[in-house]
Amino acid sequence: MKNNGESLKNENKTVFETELLFPKLVMYRKCISTLQYLSSHFDVWRWIPELAAGYTVNGAYKLLTTRPTPTECVPEALLWRKDVPLKVTVFTCRLFRFCLPTKANLYHRGVISPDAQVCVAGCGYQETENHLFLSCPLFGQMWQLVRNWLCVYSVDHYSIVDHFYQFGTLSGGSKSRCSLMHMFWFATIWVIWKERNDRIFGGQVNHPLQLLEKIKLLSFWWFKANALVFHFSFHNWCHNPFVCAGCGRFLIFVV
Ligand SMILES: [Zn+2]
Repeated sequence: MKNNGESLKNENKTVFETELLFPKLVMYRKCISTLQYLSSHFDVWRWIPELAAGYTVNGAYKLLTTRPTPTECVPEALLWRKDVPLKVTVFTCRLFRFCLPTKANLYHRGVISPDAQVCVAGCGYQETENHLFLSCPLFGQMWQLVRNWLCVYSVDHYSIVDHFYQFGTLSGGSKSRCSLMHMFWFATIWVIWKERNDRIFGGQVNHPLQLLEKIKLLSFWWFKANALVFHFSFHNWCHNPFVCAGCGRFLIFVV
């Protein structure tokens, strides 16, 4: 056993040296051969973004904060919020960059076979981000149910980022209402993803109306946990969350 282990170790070492280390050494040697040794000059560090002024903390801060935002990204102020759990924000960042472990992504990385990338809802389509959260006949209908609950009306966008922007403006342009709508958006995609995982790994199946109740409850707890003063019940929240959040137009509750 020991001899087999030793030979395997030596074999791996040989593979490492020949296939990984040697090409890098050749590359480094080529790089070094292009350098010129100037004996009359000392080595110096140079801050390339500002050659004249050199490195400053202020310059580095400006460089980091003025980087062009990729078009597929959402402004950080809309993404990083106190009332949405960090794990949900990170999940959303991965969603906007199409980095979630969806079945389509797993297939492209060789993790699952081609016939295993079908949506868990049983619709027969490939499970991509856009399909799972927007166009799936089962999960996609959650947006309509949420809109019905909030009494807002629209059609779904086909791009997940545009859908996020559009959903935020459905109840009006005020900042507080947009913020609340985005919180519902976060809660909806989180519930959809959890339901997807439950169906794959846990074998549990919830009806869309049950998922809607989960969205209501999740958003209720998120908002209540971060509100300084909040005297409303879950029943009030279900009836009119905008009023509970202080950005509603009506103050009538049916008890
Ligand atoms: Zn589907």
